[in-house]
Amino acid sequence: MPIHYLLPCIGCDYQFQLTTSQAGQPLDCPQCGTAIDVPKLGTLKRLPISDDSSPDTTASNSGDIGWKRYVFAIGLITAVVAGLAGVALYWYSQSLFTPVDIDGHIAMVEHDIDQFSAGELWHVWHQQDLEDGLGEWVEPKYMGYNIQSNHLKNFSYGLLGLAALGVLTLLSSFAMKR
Ligand SMILES: [Zn+2]
Repeated sequence: MPIHYLLPCIGCDYQFQLTTSQAGQPLDCPQCGTAIDVPKLGTLKRLPISDDSSPDTTASNSGDIGWKRYVFAIGLITAVVAGLAGVALYWYSQSLFTPVDIDGHIAMVEHDIDQFSAGELWHVWHQQDLEDGLGEWVEPKYMGYNIQSNHLKNFSYGLLGLAALGVLTLLSSFAMKR
Protein backbone atom coordinates (compact mmCIF):
# COMPACT_ATOMS: atom_id res chain seq x y z
CA MET A 1 0.00 0.00 0.00
CA PRO A 2 1.51 3.38 -1.01
CA ILE A 3 2.42 5.88 1.69
CA HIS A 4 0.47 9.14 1.61
CA TYR A 5 2.20 12.36 2.57
CA LEU A 6 0.16 15.27 3.88
CA LEU A 7 0.52 18.72 2.32
CA PRO A 8 -1.66 21.59 3.55
CA CYS A 9 -3.30 23.78 0.87
CA ILE A 10 -1.91 27.32 0.79
CA GLY A 11 -5.42 28.74 0.19
CA CYS A 12 -7.54 26.84 2.76
CA ASP A 13 -7.37 24.13 5.40
CA TYR A 14 -7.52 21.23 2.94
CA GLN A 15 -4.87 18.52 3.26
CA PHE A 16 -3.56 16.98 0.04
CA GLN A 17 -2.74 13.28 0.39
CA LEU A 18 0.14 12.67 -1.97
CA THR A 19 2.06 9.65 -3.18
CA THR A 20 5.69 9.79 -4.32
CA SER A 21 4.52 9.43 -7.95
CA GLN A 22 2.87 12.85 -7.70
CA ALA A 23 6.14 14.63 -6.81
CA GLY A 24 6.70 17.79 -8.84
CA GLN A 25 3.23 17.77 -10.42
CA PRO A 26 0.78 20.68 -10.50
CA LEU A 27 -2.50 20.14 -8.63
CA ASP A 28 -5.69 22.12 -8.07
CA CYS A 29 -7.16 22.18 -4.58
CA PRO A 30 -10.56 20.44 -4.78
CA GLN A 31 -11.86 22.68 -1.99
CA CYS A 32 -10.75 26.23 -2.94
CA GLY A 33 -9.27 25.74 -6.44
CA THR A 34 -5.84 27.12 -5.60
CA ALA A 35 -3.18 25.70 -7.92
CA ILE A 36 -0.22 24.23 -6.07
CA ASP A 37 3.00 22.56 -7.07
CA VAL A 38 3.66 19.27 -5.32
CA PRO A 39 7.21 19.45 -3.89
CA LYS A 40 10.04 17.45 -5.40
CA LEU A 41 10.60 13.94 -4.10
CA GLY A 42 13.21 14.89 -1.50
CA THR A 43 10.97 17.53 0.10
CA LEU A 44 7.83 15.39 -0.29
CA LYS A 45 9.37 12.59 1.77
CA ARG A 46 9.93 14.98 4.70
CA LEU A 47 6.17 15.78 4.91
CA PRO A 48 4.03 14.17 7.64
CA ILE A 49 2.61 10.78 6.70
CA SER A 50 -1.14 10.20 6.63
CA ASP A 51 -2.43 7.33 8.78
CA ASP A 52 -5.45 7.12 6.45
CA SER A 53 -3.96 5.36 3.44
CA SER A 54 -6.90 5.71 1.05
CA PRO A 55 -5.59 7.34 -2.12
CA ASP A 56 -6.47 10.95 -2.72
CA THR A 57 -8.70 10.79 -5.76
CA THR A 58 -10.35 14.16 -5.23
CA ALA A 59 -7.33 16.20 -6.27
CA SER A 60 -7.11 16.14 -10.04
CA ASN A 61 -4.38 17.19 -12.37
CA SER A 62 -4.41 20.86 -13.23
CA GLY A 63 -6.74 21.83 -16.09
CA ASP A 64 -3.89 23.72 -17.74
CA ILE A 65 -2.40 20.40 -18.82
CA GLY A 66 -5.60 19.64 -20.76
CA TRP A 67 -5.54 23.06 -22.41
CA LYS A 68 -1.94 22.65 -23.40
CA ARG A 69 -2.68 19.31 -25.06
CA TYR A 70 -5.72 20.80 -26.78
CA VAL A 71 -3.72 23.72 -28.23
CA PHE A 72 -0.94 21.33 -29.23
CA ALA A 73 -3.41 19.01 -31.03
CA ILE A 74 -5.16 21.90 -32.84
CA GLY A 75 -1.79 23.26 -33.96
CA LEU A 76 -0.58 19.84 -35.09
CA ILE A 77 -3.75 19.03 -37.05
CA THR A 78 -3.80 22.47 -38.70
CA ALA A 79 -0.11 22.23 -39.62
CA VAL A 80 -0.39 18.71 -41.07
CA VAL A 81 -3.72 19.10 -42.91
CA ALA A 82 -3.11 22.62 -44.29
CA GLY A 83 0.53 21.77 -45.04
CA LEU A 84 -0.28 18.64 -47.02
CA ALA A 85 -3.19 20.32 -48.83
CA GLY A 86 -1.01 23.35 -49.61
CA VAL A 87 1.83 21.25 -51.02
CA ALA A 88 -0.57 19.07 -53.04
CA LEU A 89 -2.39 22.12 -54.43
CA TYR A 90 0.88 23.85 -55.29
CA TRP A 91 2.05 20.71 -57.11
CA TYR A 92 -1.27 20.49 -58.97
CA SER A 93 -1.21 24.17 -59.95
CA GLN A 94 2.31 23.75 -61.34
CA SER A 95 1.21 20.71 -63.37
CA LEU A 96 -1.53 22.86 -64.96
CA PHE A 97 0.92 25.58 -65.92
CA THR A 98 2.31 25.78 -69.45
CA PRO A 99 5.37 28.00 -69.67
CA VAL A 100 5.17 30.42 -72.61
CA ASP A 101 8.40 31.53 -74.24
CA ILE A 102 7.14 34.64 -76.07
CA ASP A 103 10.58 35.85 -77.25
CA GLY A 104 11.44 32.37 -78.50
CA HIS A 105 8.12 32.16 -80.33
CA ILE A 106 8.59 35.54 -82.04
CA ALA A 107 12.15 34.58 -83.07
CA MET A 108 10.82 31.32 -84.53
CA VAL A 109 8.11 33.10 -86.53
CA GLU A 110 10.61 35.70 -87.80
CA HIS A 111 12.95 32.91 -88.84
CA ASP A 112 10.13 31.17 -90.72
CA ILE A 113 9.10 34.41 -92.46
CA ASP A 114 12.71 34.95 -93.62
CA GLN A 115 12.57 31.58 -95.35
CA PHE A 116 9.51 32.49 -97.43
CA SER A 117 9.57 34.12 -100.83
CA ALA A 118 7.22 37.07 -101.37
CA GLY A 119 4.78 34.81 -103.20
CA GLU A 120 4.72 32.21 -100.44
CA LEU A 121 4.31 34.92 -97.84
CA TRP A 122 1.29 36.29 -99.65
CA HIS A 123 -0.09 32.77 -99.93
CA VAL A 124 0.34 32.07 -96.18
CA TRP A 125 -1.19 35.43 -95.28
CA HIS A 126 -4.11 34.75 -97.62
CA GLN A 127 -4.65 31.27 -96.10
CA GLN A 128 -4.64 32.74 -92.59
CA ASP A 129 -7.13 35.35 -93.68
CA LEU A 130 -9.50 32.72 -95.10
CA GLU A 131 -9.22 30.18 -92.31
CA ASP A 132 -9.19 32.27 -89.17
CA GLY A 133 -10.75 35.53 -90.23
CA LEU A 134 -8.83 38.67 -89.44
CA GLY A 135 -9.34 40.37 -86.11
CA GLU A 136 -10.82 37.31 -84.46
CA TRP A 137 -8.96 36.40 -81.30
CA VAL A 138 -9.27 32.90 -79.95
CA GLU A 139 -7.71 32.48 -76.52
CA PRO A 140 -5.46 29.42 -76.51
CA LYS A 141 -6.58 26.76 -74.03
CA TYR A 142 -3.32 26.81 -72.10
CA MET A 143 -3.90 30.49 -71.26
CA GLY A 144 -7.06 29.63 -69.35
CA TYR A 145 -5.20 26.85 -67.56
CA ASN A 146 -2.35 29.19 -66.70
CA ILE A 147 -4.76 31.71 -65.15
CA GLN A 148 -6.41 28.89 -63.18
CA SER A 149 -2.96 27.63 -62.20
CA ASN A 150 -2.05 31.07 -60.82
CA HIS A 151 -5.25 31.23 -58.75
CA LEU A 152 -4.62 27.75 -57.33
CA LYS A 153 -0.99 28.62 -56.62
CA ASN A 154 -2.05 31.71 -54.66
CA PHE A 155 -4.58 29.60 -52.75
CA SER A 156 -1.88 27.03 -51.98
CA TYR A 157 0.27 29.85 -50.53
CA GLY A 158 -2.69 30.68 -48.26
CA LEU A 159 -2.86 27.06 -47.12
CA LEU A 160 0.89 27.00 -46.46
CA GLY A 161 0.50 30.20 -44.43
CA LEU A 162 -2.24 28.50 -42.41
CA ALA A 163 0.09 25.53 -41.88
CA ALA A 164 2.78 27.91 -40.59
CA LEU A 165 0.17 29.34 -38.19
CA GLY A 166 -0.55 25.77 -37.05
CA VAL A 167 3.15 25.23 -36.35
CA LEU A 168 3.21 28.49 -34.34
CA THR A 169 0.15 27.34 -32.36
CA LEU A 170 1.81 23.98 -31.76
CA LEU A 171 5.01 25.68 -30.55
CA SER A 172 3.12 28.16 -28.38
CA SER A 173 1.58 25.23 -26.47
CA PHE A 174 5.11 24.47 -25.19
CA ALA A 175 5.44 28.05 -23.99
CA MET A 176 2.16 27.85 -22.03
CA LYS A 177 2.63 27.75 -18.27
CA ARG A 178 2.68 24.19 -16.97
ZN1 LIG B 1 -7.52 24.89 -0.84
